Amino acid sequence: MSRFYDVEPSLDNYWRSIILFGNNVASYKFALACSLYELANSSNDFISLEQLAGPFSRHICEHLKEAPKQTTAKSSRFLATCTDFNLGKVDQDYLCAQTVRLGFQNVIDAFHNVNRREVGERFFMDERKMANKGIRLTDNFYTLMASQAINSIKPETNARWRLVESAWQLGVSKNLMEHDHDSKQLFTRLNDRRVNITSSRDSLNGYQKGRCFYCFGHITIESGKSDLADVDHFFPWVIREHVPAINGIWNLVLACQSCNRGENGKFTQLPHIDYLDRLHARNEYFINSHLPIRETLMQQTGKTEALRRAFLQSSYNQAKVQLLHSWKKPEPRGFMNF
Ligand SMILES: [Zn+2]
Repeated sequence: MSRFYDVEPSLDNYWRSIILFGNNVASYKFALACSLYELANSSNDFISLEQLAGPFSRHICEHLKEAPKQTTAKSSRFLATCTDFNLGKVDQDYLCAQTVRLGFQNVIDAFHNVNRREVGERFFMDERKMANKGIRLTDNFYTLMASQAINSIKPETNARWRLVESAWQLGVSKNLMEHDHDSKQLFTRLNDRRVNITSSRDSLNGYQKGRCFYCFGHITIESGKSDLADVDHFFPWVIREHVPAINGIWNLVLACQSCNRGENGKFTQLPHIDYLDRLHARNEYFINSHLPIRETLMQQTGKTEALRRAFLQSSYNQAKVQLLHSWKKPEPRGFMNF
């Protein structure tokens, strides 16, 4: 069980644990989440399956255009219908009718499950056994939608969806993800070609709960905001010849602009050894997340916790020899566990 909601059991943490963790067999959970974001403004807390079918199938159809593999199953009648719709073979009414019949079979039951257990808070109730079949949004859901965090959670959901479907589509677990310094995108290599997956910033933020890695100050991933997070290489990129896989997600953290490049900021310095434990804890936290983050991390830094710890220590030793001294944020604002 992840430590997510033991440490900081706020509603956005529950929601993030649903979106970011758990072993997906199909992308329906993401489609349901994206649909609920849209339906939050509807006048009634009851959402019929017909109402849900519109946005739900639209999100799936859109993603199918980019990534034809949306499930680990060999075939799916529902996804086949979505593909037919994209090809113009069936119309909107038929798509929606089939979505009501086939699209929600597992996702409504399983949505709140993380690591085989239901999380402690519900965002909707299942009313499919009632005369009027649908789901009923809870106060939790409306509280979440009114929170500041939701502005980051929406792009995080899409980034997580892109990671998972890319892993299925491109075999990212074999080809590994890297971070591109200029575009700030995670990408993988396919036959020597670079394929962009999704924004590094959006992928990382949920795992840091919207906080700066170094000072725990609030950060955002909303473009155009003044407190937009920087994607920081923990081991600075300047020593890339001395640290393996320096563009790997294991070495990427989100930092506030002040820590990264403000007065007394980190810039290209090596973080103090005290931060190394935090990086290790953060990376072990990543390990709870399934394909492709866990697989990439294990291949780049080690299959066991002990090996990953040793990898960080040896990288630190290499870096220290190159950079000689280390950086520490003056007067940390607080304490938070990963
Ligand atoms: Zn900071």
